[in-house]
Amino acid sequence: MAYEVIQGIQNVLRGTIPEFQIDYPCHNPHQQRWFTMRATAFEMANQSFFLVVHRDVTQRKLAEQEVLKLATIDPLTQVGNRRAFDEFLQREWRRCQRTGDPLCLMLVDIDHFKPVNDNFGHIAGDQSLLKVARLLGSYTGRSGDLCARIGGDEFAVIWGSMTLAQAEIMVQNLLQKVSGIRVSGVVPPDALQISISVGLAEVRPSELNSVEELQAFVDDQLYMAKKQGRGQAVCARFTPKEAQTLRAKSMS
Ligand code: GH3
Ligand code: MG
Repeated sequence: MAYEVIQGIQNVLRGTIPEFQIDYPCHNPHQQRWFTMRATAFEMANQSFFLVVHRDVTQRKLAEQEVLKLATIDPLTQVGNRRAFDEFLQREWRRCQRTGDPLCLMLVDIDHFKPVNDNFGHIAGDQSLLKVARLLGSYTGRSGDLCARIGGDEFAVIWGSMTLAQAEIMVQNLLQKVSGIRVSGVVPPDALQISISVGLAEVRPSELNSVEELQAFVDDQLYMAKKQGRGQAVCARFTPKEAQTLRAKSMS
């Protein structure tokens, strides 16, 4: 950013551009602040002048951050929403394609969730969604990770730079922990048992496959987990060969 600022000011001084403007952060340990810097050139009494103004734009930046949060966070569970998921997956896909890293995508759907609402009420249903979201969120601590609620009782987890073997360990741990979820107000506490079905795939992003194909593949994995009896995970690698099979299937 410093380089960009120097270039901008130099261009104004040289007269290549009439003005240069940039927003920059200026945080301290107690406060987040942003400024906007504007450099302009003007003539007065046959003399050239240059004006550099720094203006505090913290309020605007905080408002922008709030709007962005509202647009990308699921209000009930406070994890990402569908939009956050779509954007993050595209970004991680491109990053892993550049670095050659594997990427894992996990889709999670709560089993027999309709009866949870019917038998224990919507408040207990909402509590269950919140607890599942928090649990999933606890597995997404790195910068290449994201947990999102992408449908009523459906969640997605993106793990950038992660192998299938690593993800499978987390999924087994997750399946176990889900069974320990308890929802307040339910008596006796174990009357409500939550279980989830999981589809999981590892992919090496390349030109030979796409984000959409990966999602369709993991959706199939999730469907299989449901069909095979729920409360389990179906995990696989999404290879270029699998992508080809998927394409042939969708064309037939
Ligand atoms: P399956 O095992 O096949 O997934 O069965 P299911 O009953 O979970 O079926 P499905 O996933 O299709 O049902 C999702 C249900 O989630 C439907 C709706 O009653 C419930 N649901 C969706 N959004 C919310 C919500 O925000 N709060 C609550 N409490 N329930 C919700
Ligand atoms: Mg469900």
